[in-house]
Formats: sequence, structure tokens, C-alpha cells
Amino acid sequence: MYDYLIVGAGLYGAVFAHEAAKAGKKCLVVEKRPHIAGNIYTEDVDSIHVHRYGAHIFHTSNEEVWNYVNQFARFNNYINSPVAVYHDELYNLPFNMNTFSKLWNIKTPAQAKAFIQS
Ligand SMILES: Cc1cc2nc3c(=O)[nH]c(=O)nc-3n(C[C@H](O)[C@H](O)[C@H](O)COP(=O)(O)OP(=O)(O)OC[C@H]3O[C@@H](n4cnc5c(N)ncnc54)[C@H](O)[C@@H]3O)c2cc1C
Repeated sequence: MYDYLIVGAGLYGAVFAHEAAKAGKKCLVVEKRPHIAGNIYTEDVDSIHVHRYGAHIFHTSNEEVWNYVNQFARFNNYINSPVAVYHDELYNLPFNMNTFSKLWNIKTPAQAKAFIQS
């Protein structure tokens, strides 16, 4: 009856089922949760997409992957720029020269390297 039985409707199962169906295969996807999308699932709460299993941000440097996902959804240009609060000061995350400069009062990558090694 089916060419493939796919367990889980997360990213992997969904992409596999989509591509297999396009190639003319018959797929049955089973999912134990009451929704699709696996860990990237979001639910609509007052028109806000709330990530039920923790925040997810899509990022890739692979043009083929970028073109692939864009056939399914329109992406906005959200830039993740978190900051950490430590002893009442704000620090950039992920760590960059601003962070190191504020933390250790240094100015150059060479000084940061030396500090980390010490
Ligand atoms: C908190 C958190 C934050 C993350 N942030 C990011 C991020 O910012 N960017 C990023 O690229 N990735 C992120 N990830 C990773 C990303 O979620 C996973 O790489 C991706 O969701 C994996 O997809 P998957 O289809 O392999 O698995 P899942 O999404 O886990 O899907 C598997 C599905 O299979 C179902 N399943 C399992 N066993 C059975 C069974 N026996 N019968 C039926 N169904 C079954 C599950 O219910 C689930 O729906 C994050 C992960 C977490 C947990």
C-alpha cells in the first residue's frame, strides 16, 4: 500500500515525505503528538507565534537550503542579537570583541587571545 512509513512529522519526516511524494512514492506519516512540525512547532497565541518547545531561529549559509525553504514560507529579516546581564552590565552574545573589551578592558583580538590562553 505504501512505499514508505515515516515515523514523526518533524522537519525530517515532513521533508522526506514531501520529496518522496514528489518523486511519485506513496507515504504514510505517523505522529504521536497532536500536531505536525516536531520541535519547531509554533502555536498561535493572540496572533503571536509561540514556540512551544523553545525558540527556533532558522539560519543557513547554504544557498541551496535557503532556496529550498523559501518555496514553503516567506522569511523576515529577524537578526538574533541577544545580550547577557552580568553584574548589572550588558554584554553582547555570542561573544565578540565588544564583549571581551567590556569584560577584560582590552582592544585587539591578539589581546583577547592572550587573555583566554592565560
Ligand atoms: C529548545 C530547542 C531549540 C532549538 N533551536 C534551534 C534553532 O534555533 N535553529 C535550528 O536550526 N535548530 C534548532 N533546534 C533543533 C531543531 O529543533 C531540530 O534540529 C529539528 O527540529 C529536528 O527535526 P527532526 O524532524 O529530526 O526531529 P523532531 O522535530 O524532534 O521531530 C520528530 C517527531 O517525531 C515524533 N515521534 C518520535 N517518536 C515517535 C514515534 N515512536 N511515533 C510517532 N511519532 C514519533 C515526535 O513527536 C516529533 O514530532 C532546537 C531544538 C530545541 C529542542
